[in-house]
Amino acid sequence: MRRNLVKKLPKVELHCHLDGSIRPQTLRKIADPQGIPLPTDNEQLNALLVAPENCQDLNEYLERFDLVLTCLQTEAALQTAAFDIISQAAEENIKYIEVRFAPSLHTEKGLSLPKIITAVLAGLNEGEKQFGVKSNALLCGMRHEELQSIEQIVHLADTFKQSGIVGFDLAGNEVDFPPYTFEETLDLVNHLDIPLTLHAGECGCGKNVADAVKLGAKRIGHGIALKDTPEYFSLLQQNNVLVEMCPTSNFQTKTVTSLAEYPFKTFLDAGINICINTDNRTVSGTTLTDEYMKLHEWYDITYQDMETFNHHAVNGAFIPDSEKQLLHDLLSSGYRLAEN
Ligand SMILES: [Zn+2]
Repeated sequence: MRRNLVKKLPKVELHCHLDGSIRPQTLRKIADPQGIPLPTDNEQLNALLVAPENCQDLNEYLERFDLVLTCLQTEAALQTAAFDIISQAAEENIKYIEVRFAPSLHTEKGLSLPKIITAVLAGLNEGEKQFGVKSNALLCGMRHEELQSIEQIVHLADTFKQSGIVGFDLAGNEVDFPPYTFEETLDLVNHLDIPLTLHAGECGCGKNVADAVKLGAKRIGHGIALKDTPEYFSLLQQNNVLVEMCPTSNFQTKTVTSLAEYPFKTFLDAGINICINTDNRTVSGTTLTDEYMKLHEWYDITYQDMETFNHHAVNGAFIPDSEKQLLHDLLSSGYRLAEN
């Protein structure tokens, strides 16, 4: 596969965090009017934002969010950040993207949760107008927070259903807060008919992936630990669950330490649907193009494989069937050109 063609081909991305994906130059634009000092040297700034390829552990990865979150506490900042992601998506011909964020991380300066959500959606809409990239957002509850606060986010996902919030996710500390901690909350999500994706299997526990599916998740973020529990493969197949894989991020956070451990082929051979994502464009120092090029290097995937993963992403997207059909058509015609 050639990099410039991979970049040009139409793509769909479902797992991209707002706070981990702001370009350093955009962060400068956000920080300056707020009087937040950033290192003037670009390399120094990058070092604060981009996690090393070999983090010591997940914490070293998560530290890269601190400065960004300090800056993302105003409506203008959130809107600019959301717009920035769409502009990056446009650069690599992403036709549809779901951007996720945890509203509770942006209340430090007193912003209300609805204002936070409205600001992000405004940035996404502005991006769509300027670049023609369709997008929606997912709200994340943070696992370590009070169940009541998380429930509040679920209700907001319901309130903003018609305005661009298309699903709910749980992110954060999976070790101490496994899926069944949230049984009641997730019952509410299902009762309100809010599409559910869950981060699971990032911390070595394959059962968490199975439990997430049992609790109603239609998609799984990462899902890596599932590789060690083949007894659950059929559960994912039967429920047509889509695994949102994020290769670079999984190596950085030491979810896997060697290519031999990476379950890309295992999942494919088991007939589990997967799609490819960046997770955090800036913190992981990657693009969707980079992720596909890595898979090409590691596993020799072809344009045809790439097309298949993108069709899987469309099938798993939290959008109506009519919109899915349009995206399927766009992909099919785009990749036909690649073959010629
Ligand atoms: Zn994630």
